[in-house]
Amino acid sequence: MSHPRNDFSLSLYKTKVKDLNRNFNLMSPEDRHEYFEAKVGQEIKALKEFFNGNTFIAYWLGKKNSGKGTYSKLMMEIFGADKISHISVGDLVRRLSNDLDDPQKKDDLLKYFSEHYRGYISVEDSVKAFLNRDTASLLPNEFVLTLVKREIDSSPKKIIFLDGFPRTLDQISYALYFRNLIDYRQDPDIFIAIDIPENVLDERMKYRVVCPICQTPRNLKLLATPEIGYDEEKKEFYLKCDNPNCNQARMISKEGDNLGIEAIRDRLELDEILIKKVFSLHGIPKILLRNSIPVSEGQKLIDDYEITPAYSYRRLDDGKIETIEGSYVVKDDEGVDSFSLMAPAVVVSLIKQLYSVLIKK
Ligand SMILES: [Zn+2]
Repeated sequence: MSHPRNDFSLSLYKTKVKDLNRNFNLMSPEDRHEYFEAKVGQEIKALKEFFNGNTFIAYWLGKKNSGKGTYSKLMMEIFGADKISHISVGDLVRRLSNDLDDPQKKDDLLKYFSEHYRGYISVEDSVKAFLNRDTASLLPNEFVLTLVKREIDSSPKKIIFLDGFPRTLDQISYALYFRNLIDYRQDPDIFIAIDIPENVLDERMKYRVVCPICQTPRNLKLLATPEIGYDEEKKEFYLKCDNPNCNQARMISKEGDNLGIEAIRDRLELDEILIKKVFSLHGIPKILLRNSIPVSEGQKLIDDYEITPAYSYRRLDDGKIETIEGSYVVKDDEGVDSFSLMAPAVVVSLIKQLYSVLIKK
């Protein structure tokens, strides 16, 4: 089965606007606001009007660290957190562990399930199996669905970005009728897949660091802080946290991250199959987002400030450290040299495609 990226025209990812010569700093919320206005202002206006009386359900499909949470957050920034909710099945399952430890919360949960759960395995047995092993894979699909339904029932009707469902091939057919189950009968539902080179995922993981004090995540290669340190003993550069409360703490990597994505190879392959399978479905709209654009097309499609920067470092004679910023170029999954895009540039394409699916039709 060929990858759906081959069925989506590269022009869908064009963010260049004629006669717009201004540069935007995409890390700054104020600049970002003006950036979205300049690039997709008309589409945002039309969608905002549409969202006054309508909602929809989107199913995120994407590999680990592909940016699902980041894109949802940017959508909330643009359209309002009161309009959109991002529901992560992984978070719900983690919360389930805690709720089952609390007698009152456990009671509430079992009461909700006694009214809404339908499945072959009893709620009690599902809970028992889950508590013994504590992994989501032991929860029956019907149980996971009821958990999500409960979360949706607990807040006013909003646009939903669902992350982590479907997670397996047999969950795809549940997703097809999910909106009926949660009483969003007339709402459009959409699959949104993220196409991201494995090399990007690998380097996001390998160079990931976190502040030991405030836990802020950064990346030695892709998301640097202003102050850099050098470890004479290990002969390596490191980031210093720029949170004023952290006194320039040395940011550290997590055990195992240096192995990169090989540790999650099986999961990545399943996610790839899941995307291909979903894109072969009929009767449901699909959106494909690309994290990367071939370098050869870059000039035509995107602006320089939309390209993810890559950082390297050099020690100067006076002992100071110089940060060298360049464009991040990686081989995509087909071996083509590509630029990796900053998240807001990917969201521009999401907004354009949503506009086509929901309004222009
Ligand atoms: Zn910190």
